[in-house]
Amino acid sequence: MLEPLYGTPQAHVPPLGPLSPPLIRASTIGQPDAERLRALGSGEAAGEFYQRLGHSNGRAFESLVAGLEGADGAVAFASGMAAISAAMAAHLETGDRVLLAEEVYGGTSAFATTDLPRFGVVVERFSALDLDGLAAALRRPAKLVVFESPINPTLRIVDVRQVVSLARAAGALTMFDGTFAPPPMQRALDLGVDLVMHSASKFFGGHSDLLAGVVAGRHELLQPIEGWRRRTGGVLAPDPAWLLLRSWPTVRLRFEAQQAAALALAETLAGEVGNGTLIGVSYPGLPDHPDRELVRRQMHGGGCVVTLELPSLARARAVLDRLRVFARAPSLGGVESLATLPAFTTHAALTPAQRRAAGIADGLLRLAIGLEGVDVLLADLRQAMRG
Ligand code: PLP
Repeated sequence: MLEPLYGTPQAHVPPLGPLSPPLIRASTIGQPDAERLRALGSGEAAGEFYQRLGHSNGRAFESLVAGLEGADGAVAFASGMAAISAAMAAHLETGDRVLLAEEVYGGTSAFATTDLPRFGVVVERFSALDLDGLAAALRRPAKLVVFESPINPTLRIVDVRQVVSLARAAGALTMFDGTFAPPPMQRALDLGVDLVMHSASKFFGGHSDLLAGVVAGRHELLQPIEGWRRRTGGVLAPDPAWLLLRSWPTVRLRFEAQQAAALALAETLAGEVGNGTLIGVSYPGLPDHPDRELVRRQMHGGGCVVTLELPSLARARAVLDRLRVFARAPSLGGVESLATLPAFTTHAALTPAQRRAAGIADGLLRLAIGLEGVDVLLADLRQAMRG
């Protein structure tokens, strides 16, 4: 078999020579002769040829993700949405039916409900927290089940093994967005999903300075996705690929430190509920979390996002405005702590009643914990809640 046009796990090579890889920006690569051009152009040989078809910085990143996920390979894209939309589009045909969890990232929802139906794909929603509903929906043929866990911003946990087992019994493929909890915190492929997708703009980048996305899984499922990328051109560029390689050695340390800080912050603030404006704290690592049993079974820790419930949207807005250390910005997974109001950002399109039905209080403040230190973050939140 030809070497695939994406990264696969590589054996460790002892470090010799320059310890960081060269950044190769060249859009095209000179070949020695006509025969080599012919072999590359016809797909008979694999190798560096033209940047859109794959390049060494991108492949090195893909190899690292594939190794981390325990996948055959990984295919990297210019953003998380480019990866997610490609993974879905590459596996669908006119007439296919997709079951899309209600509780997925807004961009995934927008793509699946706006664009897929234009190509004759039927998209139906299910709640990933209602497995009986999913089982009922799977009584009719479905090609794909798309879901994620933890859910944003309620931080509820989906029983990944159960979703996979229902989908598999019905002959549907599972696609899982692992952005909120990459390995080693959650190993989606070990839990049985067919393809795992990440916005690498979050933890893998880790410094809020790039956009990237990646899909990992088995070769036979990656090949159509790589083909889609080659034909549509959403490849990850060399510069962000190089930055991802630069961030890689610290991803585990960052993740562990951010997760430990999120847990400590959530535990401390949970002890302060009722002492003022704070009426609730949610974090998958807290003992009163409704899905703590699932957290124990399928995750290693609760992740880096904590939510605080304040009495109203007006109060949450005032607290947000008074923060001095947390940046008022969407996203997560970077070294900087961020705060947002889901009612103003990710869930702004819902009415207050729809948000309540989805378990999203208007006064919900979402915190993505970075590396400033728990004491600094607690002091910032306390002064903002007191003001
Ligand atoms: N999936 C999740 C869960 C996200 O939070 C995001 C971005 O916020 C995405 C996908 C999209 O990723 P990107 O912004 O890299 O396109």
